[in-house]
Amino acid sequence: MPVVPAKIRLAGPNHTVHVDWSDGHASVYEYPYLRSRCPCATCQDSEPEPGQAAGALPVLKKALKPERAEIVGRYAVQIYWNDGHNSGIYSYEYLRRLCPCPECTAEARAAGMDGRQE
Ligand SMILES: [Zn+2]
Ligand SMILES: [Zn+2]
Repeated sequence: MPVVPAKIRLAGPNHTVHVDWSDGHASVYEYPYLRSRCPCATCQDSEPEPGQAAGALPVLKKALKPERAEIVGRYAVQIYWNDGHNSGIYSYEYLRRLCPCPECTAEARAAGMDGRQE
């Protein structure tokens, strides 16, 4: 059984997106973290160099936040940001891999999947 979000809450406390997963895990993503990891081709092209701190985004006049999210098929969620960007389709697998909790970060590092190959 693939792990899928049971619940996605876009407007969590402290500018975070909360995802409750079907396996009971919970992920909390800060908006800039999630936005800067947008998987669309445009954002991937302008990705900061590996190892560079994330969040190197143009400064917005208003606070960045997701306006809405749409489920795409059975495997992904498309996030509409208030900066007008909406071409990022975050597959559940990708989203789960982005989970910044210590547990997942440790797992990702062990698997060499955190995108920071030395
Ligand atoms: Zn993008
Ligand atoms: Zn996690």
